[in-house]
Amino acid sequence: MPEMPTPTGAAGQRSNAPTADPLKVLQEIQGYMGECTRCGLHEGRNKIVFGCGPPDAKLVFVGEGPGADEDAQGLPFVGQAGKLLTEMINNTAQREGIPIAREDVYICNVVKCRPPGNRNPEPDEMKTCGQFLERQLEAIRPKAICVLGGTAAKYLLKTTQGITKIRGQWLEWHGIPVMPTYHPSFLLRPYAQDKKREAWLDLRAALHFVYD
Ligand code: SF4
Repeated sequence: MPEMPTPTGAAGQRSNAPTADPLKVLQEIQGYMGECTRCGLHEGRNKIVFGCGPPDAKLVFVGEGPGADEDAQGLPFVGQAGKLLTEMINNTAQREGIPIAREDVYICNVVKCRPPGNRNPEPDEMKTCGQFLERQLEAIRPKAICVLGGTAAKYLLKTTQGITKIRGQWLEWHGIPVMPTYHPSFLLRPYAQDKKREAWLDLRAALHFVYD
């Protein structure tokens, strides 16, 4: 099997340098992924949800995995949680006078196939599929990453701390600042309504950091 494409074009090498042509590298990663069967999540999926947004986006959002709507459409964050994420991005940007909208950021997940019953992805599934996420992030090299929810944060940041402990703090992935915050699907739950303000503060900090 050929090795996965990297931003440098040389398999196995990682670089902090900006990618010359992130669109080309993303297409190569997607091509390498193909109709992936590298973990058990392929068994129940309809569509692989690779990610969407500008390849040169300055901000990337990372969730944990696709849900039913995403699995049906092959696009990330298109269900109820996606609607809330869109509102959060668009409304915060508008309120803060930052001229961007959801279409200006890149959105993806740690695992690209829907976990059955919307369960959390298992560590081995995230490890297997995370190689694609990591190459995506290396290709885009955004100014910052906003990681959504404890499962994705634990994977990306290699931490055991819960999201309530680490949200709102700038952490780092391979030299790129990472802002962890709550997953929109958590914010939709009736008992989590008081967390919306914290999520808004986190998003506001991320948008100002990236776009000021
Ligand atoms: Fe492949 Fe990722 Fe889907 Fe697993 S979740 S089958 S590694 S694309």
